[in-house]
Amino acid sequence: MSRDIDSKIAEKFKNSNRFLIVSHVRPDADAAGSVLGLGLALEKAGKTVQMVLKDDAQRFGYLPGSDQILSAPTGAFDMVIVVDCSDPDRVGGALSGYDIIDLVVDHHKTNLQFGDTNIVESDQVATAAILFDHMPDWGLSFDPEVAVNLLSGIVGDTIGFRTPNVNADVMRKAGALINLGADLAHIYREELVMKSFKAVRYWGAGLSRMEQDDGLVWASLTLADRRKIGYPGNDDADLVNVLSSVKEAKIALIFIEQPQNMVKVSWRARPGMDVSGIAFEFGGGGHAAAAGADIEGTLEDVMEDVTLETKKLLENQF
Ligand code: 5GP
Ligand code: MN
Repeated sequence: MSRDIDSKIAEKFKNSNRFLIVSHVRPDADAAGSVLGLGLALEKAGKTVQMVLKDDAQRFGYLPGSDQILSAPTGAFDMVIVVDCSDPDRVGGALSGYDIIDLVVDHHKTNLQFGDTNIVESDQVATAAILFDHMPDWGLSFDPEVAVNLLSGIVGDTIGFRTPNVNADVMRKAGALINLGADLAHIYREELVMKSFKAVRYWGAGLSRMEQDDGLVWASLTLADRRKIGYPGNDDADLVNVLSSVKEAKIALIFIEQPQNMVKVSWRARPGMDVSGIAFEFGGGGHAAAAGADIEGTLEDVMEDVTLETKKLLENQF
């Protein structure tokens, strides 16, 4: 962490008026919370901000400012910022037409460092935690609305402070955000506990196809499931977290069929294992314990390929 970089960013923020902030497709709470936390703080500093998430962000209705989220940017910007995204291809085209990415803030160890300035801290639990550390140095201040968004990012990526990278420092940050006005119980409930009826029926479809083999547990979700149930997203409704809570699962995998012959795969690993490398080899990325990739092919072919390679990884890591 260099103070030099922070003061350069502060200077650039001061001299810019029109900001674009984007994050990855199929946004999670850290993507949405980081876009909104930074975006609202910039707005409160008098800036004009477009906050863009390509896919449906409906489930983040509980986050302050979520009604301002756009699905595509318009116009010109003085600064383009990408948060919680390790690869410029993962914004779903939201950056097309914008050649220069001024700032990347991220915690994925597979980050391609594609910004003019890159604040990539892979030891941090969430991009929102990095923002919490740096925003004061960038001349930005916190208020209750910013605090809710940042705490939501931390709660989401740590699955409610459950991941092994949670330490006293993370809890100190969470405590500071609570002191700033964020309601932890409300965030926890909205982000991790409450699910729509359709989401739970969608889980049912996936769970009915759950399988296991030697420490690997997997399930699939199809386009037909989503059509039949009327589930509006193209994600797994966090079913992978249910799979990874299966005692026998050293690695859990979910396959989510996508339009145009694509399959989204998510890996979740027990502490001590690293699935970021295998996700990266399949064209994706992520963290040691949680990683994903968008892979071309039929559901059947991708499932066969990925389970085979993941079994090899299991044999080598245990
Ligand atoms: P999930 O499996 O929940 O989508 O993501 C797990 C982690 O891997 C997240 O940190 C996410 O940002 C990252 N990830 C998921 N899919 C991709 C992908 O296609 N490309 C990259 N670079 N990272 C991904
Ligand atoms: Mn994140």
